[in-house]
Amino acid sequence: MPLPPHPAEHVERALCVLAHPDDVDFGSSGTVATWTAAGTEVTYLIVTDGDAGGFDETPRDQMGPLRRTEQTAAAKQVGVSDLRFLGYPDGRLELTLDLRRDISRVIRQVRPQRVLTSSPERFYERIGASHPDHMTAGEATLRAVYPDARNPFAFPELLADEGLDAWTVSEVWLGGGPRADHAVDVTDVLDRKWAALESHVTQVSHLPEGQLREFVGGWMRQTAQAHGLPEGRSAEAFQVVYTG
Ligand SMILES: [Zn+2]
Repeated sequence: MPLPPHPAEHVERALCVLAHPDDVDFGSSGTVATWTAAGTEVTYLIVTDGDAGGFDETPRDQMGPLRRTEQTAAAKQVGVSDLRFLGYPDGRLELTLDLRRDISRVIRQVRPQRVLTSSPERFYERIGASHPDHMTAGEATLRAVYPDARNPFAFPELLADEGLDAWTVSEVWLGGGPRADHAVDVTDVLDRKWAALESHVTQVSHLPEGQLREFVGGWMRQTAQAHGLPEGRSAEAFQVVYTG
């Protein structure tokens, strides 16, 4: 069977699985804004509370709850109101069967046609993208997409105890990896992306005025150029994997 050459024009439901609060906003919230604007229902599944992040004196036990609140505010800026948090420890994420089961559960609950996550591949040219938690979240998500979520005999307790039927995800979009092959023009939703990013006050408020937009904006213009978009456009790019 030939592989589909392009991702679906429109999907009903998409699920974004990311390791930390703010990951989706740095790399993908422009894309999410285009999806919700087109009527796609988007759910965020955030694996850790990002409790090892931040740059100020916030007591460590307050950081997790604070970052959930920030992510919830950021999600609202791009039309997302369904957020789930798994509460795994930040910076110590391991590829376990528990993690696969927890992601499979949400895939079966949400029944998305499209999943967005981090690339499990190390990107040697941009080492910051390859935080070990990002790669682990990406690999666990791919394992949950295939085979766990679609196999009724994988984690049978999900069906037996929770009534969650098997579900097959059609596409997985991998961000922050070395093989991006699909760019999304986000120029028209940049204001929403900035509002989302700036909602992560504990993560970005220490930066000098304008630096965040300069840095992330430059990176998105470079991405647009690398993928052949017209001069002056901004883009987010992904490797699309067909998993149907
Ligand atoms: Zn992160």
